[in-house]
Amino acid sequence: MKKHNFSAGPCILPQEVLKKASDSILNFNGEDLSLIEISHRSKSFVEVMDKAINLVKELLHLPKGYAVLFLQGGASMQFLMTAYNLMKVDGKAAYLDTGTWSSKALKEAKLFGEVDVLASSKDKGYNYIPKNYTVPSDANYMHVTSNNTIFGTQLKAFPKTDGLLVCDMSSDIFSRKIDFTQFDLIYAGAQKNMGPAGATLVIVKDEILGKTGRQIPSMLDYQVHIGKDSMFNTPPVFAVYTSMLTLQWLNDLGGISAIEKRNEEKAALLYAEIDSNPAFVGFAAKEDRSLMNITFNLTEQSNQEKFDKLCNEAGINGLKGHRSVGGYRASMYNALPLESVQVLVNEMKKI
Ligand SMILES: *Cc1c(COP(=O)(O)O)cnc(C)c1O
Repeated sequence: MKKHNFSAGPCILPQEVLKKASDSILNFNGEDLSLIEISHRSKSFVEVMDKAINLVKELLHLPKGYAVLFLQGGASMQFLMTAYNLMKVDGKAAYLDTGTWSSKALKEAKLFGEVDVLASSKDKGYNYIPKNYTVPSDANYMHVTSNNTIFGTQLKAFPKTDGLLVCDMSSDIFSRKIDFTQFDLIYAGAQKNMGPAGATLVIVKDEILGKTGRQIPSMLDYQVHIGKDSMFNTPPVFAVYTSMLTLQWLNDLGGISAIEKRNEEKAALLYAEIDSNPAFVGFAAKEDRSLMNITFNLTEQSNQEKFDKLCNEAGINGLKGHRSVGGYRASMYNALPLESVQVLVNEMKKI
């Protein structure tokens, strides 16, 4: 039987998606060829790419003016690509430091210009989202991380800014209803909520590009990738195909409003147990709690062996917290069923 997979990333994918993806390795589309041995310029793969792009636009309700790209290099490559493409020569960018990934992003931006860290929750081990700050009007863009995968905090509201707003949405894209048009650029590594590692989704407003006054190497230039429909070089065909299947699965399920409801239900079930069971304590500030990554610990460390054994016997996988936080982290991405959360809660009740 499949384990209850609470892994933070790469993450659980729908079983039917895994089945279709594995079939495609042997025989794609009934063409008697494998998906990974056909040309990415073949009609059948171009159709996959188009379908994936259209599903992104449909699911996020993106109006005209946004380009959707599937790139490589992970979200980590976007830390520098966003700065390279948006920070003007002698320019400045504003960053909100809400965790390890934000601080990695702003470290890269410093290579391209001045970085104004508007607020940071590092003082409390990143267990909350700072809220009182003003976005400077002379910043070329403002960068936020919507969900802090490691610490289990999530932005419930996004800053209002006259300038550009950039968001690393790696671990909660397609999980909740947001007005996606408030962002000028969104990026997300596929492997948290969309597909296998290897593809990175970038959604960018065309009109904001080409204004920095710097020369950008082709592979790092969004405009080059837009001009070639994500086919400037060989795209990661398997990651794009599997992402497309997951997006199709999500669409068939009723899209983001349907999955948001499920995600809220799952999170409510686990948080209720954390808050009512004296053997456990939550890590993140209540008002900033993530629906995707739920961080908690035992109140008595002496229970660790017992709890770990119970989880293991129940087929629970990937519950160990990130080494920088310790304790436990239940990652409950879109494909994790409510039943898996119920299994975890049942084991917690035994402590
Ligand atoms: C995992 C993660 C990253 C890094 O993603 P890679 O694709 O491994 O580079 C960046 N940001 C957030 C919020 C993440 O969760």
